[in-house]
Amino acid sequence: MNESRRRVTVLGSTGSIGVSTLDVLARHPERFEVFALSAATQVDLMLQQCARFRPRFAVMADAAAAAVLRQKIESNGLEAQVLSGLDAIEMMASDPEVDLVMAAIVGAAGLASCLAAARAGKRLLLANKEALVVGGGWFMEAVRAGGARLLPIDSEHSAIFQCLPEDPATWSRRVDHILLTASGGPFRTRDPGTLRDVTPEQACAHPNFSMGRKISVDSATMMNKALEVIEARWLFDLAPEQIRVVIHPQQIIHSMVQFSDASVLAQLGTPDMRVPIACGLSWPERIESGTPRLDFTTLSALTFEEADATRFPGLHLSWQALRAVPGTTAVLNAANEVAVAAFLARRIRFDQIHQLILATLEAVAPPPLDSLQALLALDALAREAAERCAARFEA
Ligand code: NDP
Repeated sequence: MNESRRRVTVLGSTGSIGVSTLDVLARHPERFEVFALSAATQVDLMLQQCARFRPRFAVMADAAAAAVLRQKIESNGLEAQVLSGLDAIEMMASDPEVDLVMAAIVGAAGLASCLAAARAGKRLLLANKEALVVGGGWFMEAVRAGGARLLPIDSEHSAIFQCLPEDPATWSRRVDHILLTASGGPFRTRDPGTLRDVTPEQACAHPNFSMGRKISVDSATMMNKALEVIEARWLFDLAPEQIRVVIHPQQIIHSMVQFSDASVLAQLGTPDMRVPIACGLSWPERIESGTPRLDFTTLSALTFEEADATRFPGLHLSWQALRAVPGTTAVLNAANEVAVAAFLARRIRFDQIHQLILATLEAVAPPPLDSLQALLALDALAREAAERCAARFEA
């Protein structure tokens, strides 16, 4: 074995980002070794990944799924040690032998493992934006205290990261504002009056990307962009008014920085998550991502438009939540997670996602937060309130 290979834990390896990460890792066996993989319940895909990447550990959040996987690992003559539960996922994120952690669990469920990787000083590739939306300043403090290197995987934040000067101390005087680009999702041109009829299948059919179901619905409501605004505030230490959003349906420009002298830097490329993943894995070097090169001669136009507040009422909640008392972004995130799950389960309508979020924000007033435990208690409280709202909508 080549001792210089970097050991990688992929959290959420069976998801859209996890699969793309393994695709990039497979192109560079001389650079990377898969140390551990984690998932929630998808046993068969995890088994295939274990056969292909030979990790030392495979963790299933669900104990019953872990028992099935253990039996299949043995009967297939594989050697991965199978563990279960959230504590085991945290262990894989912070093991002293691990160099890089890809955080690609969906939702606030990924917060604890992200924090474990941050405290252990890992190179942390953050796809799991909800962890940062909930953890906010506490999360960034854990990154600083642990000496971790945080690299954004969301394509927009990776773009901003690549456009910013290397020294963060200079950002406040050089950067005027950033522009996060948004595709506008599948309903950009749909009559807002018909949004109440949207089905989960229609909401999950993104025009440019195949993604997990939760982020697909978030893209359709533009709550994904709302979460990204909050994510950008913490990643780049910006004031809320320095973060703007512009719709760019072609998704060729992944985001831009407008500097104090009116110069704009943008990062462009084929829309494929393997690009920011490869960037995070190798930064500051560049490695092959497997993505087709952008052919400028075939691009007919790059267009931009403002996000329509009637069609996407949730987008503006991000700035409001950032200006409100600490903890409000955690309530916003919890309400959105519950609302999306209720919509995907056909318990509430598409247009009720926003109503449920508003009702939860109204019902839950964050108390003064002095610890991470208090923040997690607030997350649980907001979920309960959101569930009660969902039940009211169903009735
Ligand atoms: P998916 O739903 O495709 O995958 C989620 C992964 O997390 C799966 O491996 C799943 O396991 C695992 N998981 C789900 N719930 C839990 C839990 N409670 N505990 C432990 N593991 C769990 O999501 P995506 O890959 O689309 O997204 C992952 C994250 O990356 C999200 O935060 C998303 O916002 C972000 N992101 C995604 C992009 C994309 O293009 N998909 C782009 C930018 C950011 P199992 O398969 O067994 O259920």
